[in-house]
Amino acid sequence: VSELDTLYELQVLDSTLDQLDYRRSHLAEREALAAARRSLAAARDSLEANRTRQSELDAAYEASERSAQELDAKRKRLEAQLRTIVVTRQAEALQREIATVRAEHEHLDDRGLELIEESEALQAGVAALEHEMAEQERAVREATAAYTAVVAELDEEIARVKTERGEQAARVDPTLLATYEQMRPRFQGVAVAKLNGARCSGCHLDLSRVELEAVWAAAPGTVVECPQCARMLVK
Ligand SMILES: [Zn+2]
Repeated sequence: VSELDTLYELQVLDSTLDQLDYRRSHLAEREALAAARRSLAAARDSLEANRTRQSELDAAYEASERSAQELDAKRKRLEAQLRTIVVTRQAEALQREIATVRAEHEHLDDRGLELIEESEALQAGVAALEHEMAEQERAVREATAAYTAVVAELDEEIARVKTERGEQAARVDPTLLATYEQMRPRFQGVAVAKLNGARCSGCHLDLSRVELEAVWAAAPGTVVECPQCARMLVK
């Protein structure tokens, strides 16, 4: 086995690691988990909005009840006053005032009913929203489990290939290894290509007859470059 063959085996392991890294960062399970989390956040927001509106309605209802009590007290006071009055004009003025208070009270009652109706409608929706929340929480739990499982599986494989890669790197001539490490980033991770017939596995281009002959004529152990892409070529 030549030095370049040993290096090529290292290249194969590095390419495998690159592919595993790519898979790990482009997992469908990661997207699914993100989508599930977004749905859960939306369900939580809806429930939260329902509760916020309900407490606003409760506060508004309490305020309207207090105003109604004040109006009742005012009306009683005016009615008591009315019983003591003998002058017709004064009595008429009081009666008009009492009528105004009654109208205000009626208006408050109507508003109170509206508040209760809206509150009841919101109450009726709570169960469905809570059910939706529970569903989305379950979906997030499942998506998390699926993502965690697939990542664990990949990490195990990555660790295994990395060990193998370390062992293989130790077999490569240090100078050649250094050249290889330097070249890799410039060649999208593939610094060593295989010559398949006349074709370079790095750039997928065919070498001309003259170029091929030059490659084959090179002394064993000499590093030959692909004339097209400049990767190291393994015969
Ligand atoms: Zn090439």
